[in-house]
Amino acid sequence: MAKRPHVVIVGAGFGGLAASRALRHVDVDVTIVDRNNYHLFQPLLYQVASGLLDPSAIASPVRTIVRRSPNVDVLRAEVTSVDVAKQQVKTSTGTLDYDYLIIATGSVTDYFGNQDARMHSTGLKDLSEALALRSRLLGCFERASLTTDSAARRRLLTFAVVGAGPTGVEYSGAVAELIKHVLPKDYRRIDFAEVSVVLIEAGERVLATFAPRLSRLATRSLERKGVRFILGESVRAVDDHGLVLDGGERIETTNVVWTAGVRATTPPDFAADALGRAGRVKVTQSLHLSNHPEVFVIGDAAAAEQAGAVLPMLAPVAIQGGKYVGGVIAARLTGTSISPFRYHDKGTMATVGRGAAVAQIGPVRINGLVGWFIWIFIHLLYLVGFRNRALALWSWAWNYFFWDRPVRLIIAPSADGQSSPPTAGPGR
Ligand SMILES: Cc1cc2nc3c(=O)[nH]c(=O)nc-3n(C[C@H](O)[C@H](O)[C@H](O)COP(=O)(O)OP(=O)(O)OC[C@H]3O[C@@H](n4cnc5c(N)ncnc54)[C@H](O)[C@@H]3O)c2cc1C
Repeated sequence: MAKRPHVVIVGAGFGGLAASRALRHVDVDVTIVDRNNYHLFQPLLYQVASGLLDPSAIASPVRTIVRRSPNVDVLRAEVTSVDVAKQQVKTSTGTLDYDYLIIATGSVTDYFGNQDARMHSTGLKDLSEALALRSRLLGCFERASLTTDSAARRRLLTFAVVGAGPTGVEYSGAVAELIKHVLPKDYRRIDFAEVSVVLIEAGERVLATFAPRLSRLATRSLERKGVRFILGESVRAVDDHGLVLDGGERIETTNVVWTAGVRATTPPDFAADALGRAGRVKVTQSLHLSNHPEVFVIGDAAAAEQAGAVLPMLAPVAIQGGKYVGGVIAARLTGTSISPFRYHDKGTMATVGRGAAVAQIGPVRINGLVGWFIWIFIHLLYLVGFRNRALALWSWAWNYFFWDRPVRLIIAPSADGQSSPPTAGPGR
């Protein structure tokens, strides 16, 4: 019997999983390689970092997800290089030959070359970082409740978030609510007038990719929760005890969260000769390398263009790209071809706390409680598995009615609130 074509998918994120689903009934063997044994729903990482969701609500084992796909195998390994000439992928556990390769390796936090920031702040890009942030925040409150040194206490109780895109806005809103509504009941010896959340943004407004009206509404909503804004300033330096802005102002803090940007990541030695902005790999309109039609790049890792603009780093772009390349491979096996990739923009949204979100769907702008319900609906739709959906819905309802963050557990190594090395995963 002739051997079936082998499709290797690197990355079990949104794009990689969508591609494997599209290939489920195709006459190929598929191997998904990921360094983690789980798929991570990154849009809800900030809720793990702020004690609302348990990690298992946003992460699902890849083997469970593909259980009903008999032609799909899973390999937990780090991809260390790709040889496109030999059609081989080298991993930490051995070498795989492929007929088709799909690179869906996503992105990592971008410190824009600022090594201080990399050393002394934490990103919000993977589960270990979210858990470290949760433990660090709570650890700071523990230490602040014991110290009699007022300068040290203020440092421990100042939370600086760098970057006011959706991640920075969502995280600071969630932390501000935790500080306003939940922690005063736990830490009765702390004077909460000393606690502050500062959101720092180099641009002139928060949520720069949203309509100005929505960004104003988000700003007002965050201000009501007690978030202080510093706009139009970049962070020049970060150290163990604080950060310095370009204008010279110093903010004393032991908590710097870096959400200022991401850049694409691809396996080392991946011979993509054309890179676009943020290290994204340039691809054709069919999402493959121009000189290697059997190598596809999708999601955050790819600089796919449509109508002259590069598509954004968003989950729906990765999902639609994965589905599309699965279709291209299936079509090639039958000797047919399909039209170029077209991304259908279904809109973008961001929460600004419990019961409030901003959303733009085509020409429609939505905010407040209605926006929040739409946000809940969309996230439930995209979360993988019934259990995760039920867990998330239960936690949101619990928080909505009781203003409670049940997962206030200190379990990560940086729990003492001291500065610690970044928890970045391999490849950073
Ligand atoms: C905090 C946060 C909030 C977000 N909020 C939203 C939102 O509200 N809406 C939205 O649309 N998008 C949001 N995004 C962006 C969205 O999560 C990404 O666009 C999406 O995850 C990209 O999918 P992907 O498949 O390209 O990569 P990913 O989902 O990042 O998956 C990449 C996978 O590749 C694996 N991998 C990488 N390199 C290797 C290697 N060398 N070897 C083995 N495995 C490897 C990783 O472990 C990972 O599992 C958010 C992102 C973050 C971080």
